[in-house]
Amino acid sequence: MFPNSSSSIELSRLALENNIDFLRKLVGPDVTISSVLKGNAYGHGIKHMVPELERLGIRHFSVFGSFEALDVASFSTESSTILIMGDILDDHMPWMIENDVECFVFNKIRLNALCKQARLMKKKARIHLELETGMNRTGINPDEWEEMASLINEFEDCIEVVGMCTHLAGAESVSNYKRILSQKDMFNEGVTFFKAKGVHPKVLHTSCSAGVIMYPENNLGMVRVGILQYGLWPSLETQVSYMRENKLAEDPLKRVISWKSHVMDIKNVKMGEFIGYGTSFPDFIILLSKKSKGLLF
Ligand SMILES: *Cc1c(COP(=O)(O)O)cnc(C)c1O
Repeated sequence: MFPNSSSSIELSRLALENNIDFLRKLVGPDVTISSVLKGNAYGHGIKHMVPELERLGIRHFSVFGSFEALDVASFSTESSTILIMGDILDDHMPWMIENDVECFVFNKIRLNALCKQARLMKKKARIHLELETGMNRTGINPDEWEEMASLINEFEDCIEVVGMCTHLAGAESVSNYKRILSQKDMFNEGVTFFKAKGVHPKVLHTSCSAGVIMYPENNLGMVRVGILQYGLWPSLETQVSYMRENKLAEDPLKRVISWKSHVMDIKNVKMGEFIGYGTSFPDFIILLSKKSKGLLF
């Protein structure tokens, strides 16, 4: 069979297996790995990743929106849990509740809408309370905790609080160290607050890839891992830190994606010449050609 294009994207099953093994060893058997598949699985394709991840034993997926949750569900052949961290379209809410798809709740509007729909369906909506701890993206502000806790108690018939979570801001850089520590304190404060009000989540989660590498004490019951599973480090800093600490000379991760293209021609270009259309960035081109000893692919 002829390929239908001179460029192709390849996904490596072995690389993915290597990365999931690495993650499992890193977090241990008691921490659930939620595989983050937002942005069409970071460009790898939800339809390719879901079956492969399920083959490797992953049973928890986190996505940005309800439209992605539908996609994950359509390619899943196991009884995996799907968690929506971001947007939910109103039209998708009945489907979500019907299929036990879980979601973050970070405001009253969403909590009310979920409860209303769940009551109509005589079923409970499964939620994770997202607490604001300093990222300032989404999350329930501390001054809203009290009201949220009483609403949840009032909504006992329609809402099940499965989890409580937050998102660490910038764990990939040591410059955020103090901020992360204060987020951790605030999260603990929030959990204690809600527990005192009778809200008892089954699972706590705060960490993304960088958190898993830099702050393993924050792994708690579950980690939401995106970039690492695809074989990329959140930052050079996290990579160097991990490899130094573990005295590794080789990258323990393997890149899942590769983009291959058919080489059509190799051409020598004199230093200082322009390349292609326009005459912009000549300095840049000289730099490039010096770096590659005058040979531009
Ligand atoms: C993107 C995202 C993650 C995963 O981040 P990685 O750095 O790719 O591991 C985890 N949690 C939330 C809330 C996210 O938005």
